Amino acid sequence: MITVVTILDEIPFVPDSADLLKTLGLDASSDLASEIQDVVDQAASVAKPKALYGVGYVEERGRDTVTIDGVVFTSRVLRMNLTDVYRVFPFIATCGLELDGLLARYSDELLRYSIECLKSQALNAARNHLITHVRSKYGISGLSSMHPGSGDVAVWPLEQQVELFRLLGDAPARIGVQLNESCLMQPNKTVSGILFPSERDFYSCRLCRRDKCPGRRAPFDPELWKKTHEEDIEEND
Ligand code: SF4
Repeated sequence: MITVVTILDEIPFVPDSADLLKTLGLDASSDLASEIQDVVDQAASVAKPKALYGVGYVEERGRDTVTIDGVVFTSRVLRMNLTDVYRVFPFIATCGLELDGLLARYSDELLRYSIECLKSQALNAARNHLITHVRSKYGISGLSSMHPGSGDVAVWPLEQQVELFRLLGDAPARIGVQLNESCLMQPNKTVSGILFPSERDFYSCRLCRRDKCPGRRAPFDPELWKKTHEEDIEEND
């Protein structure tokens, strides 16, 4: 388990009304725009996006495993990504609980959806702040990440959240993040994973065949998929 964890809880966040209206398919002159602006203003005053990270060290590597500070993670892709890496940064970034408090005040579906969109904006602010902080503090220009549950199911199974939370000890609770029995995090707009130095950007989307994902950041890469499953293919021949 990592004993020293840094918490970032003074993260600037300015909700983007124009982006929200665009997501909702509304014009600024729409009758609903002022109601939505009221929600945006409330979100701006209560939101407190947060993040945390620890500094971990790779201790052992197996064929499909990598041990970080005594915790064994099972993922061939993670193992491959950390082949030449010794220092990693397990992390969590979250929109924070405050926006869920705001959500509970509304029953109107459009306004509730607007708050969910603002939670996504707050999460992006937390994640970007964290990455900028780690890059600057540790002098790392190339930084990639992997997340349990991202990409095809075998890339790094969602159940590995249990190991990630074990690695981070009680720190997630200190920023209001909980892991439930289904290995999903609360608040729902929260990401967890491991940041690692990398000269080439790695995106789990390159190993994900899900169609029409609005969050896709890179196209599916059949060559990389083959490379990461090569031994399975050979064994099944
Ligand atoms: S394509 Fe979508 S589901 Fe697949 S890893 Fe990327 S963001 Fe996740």
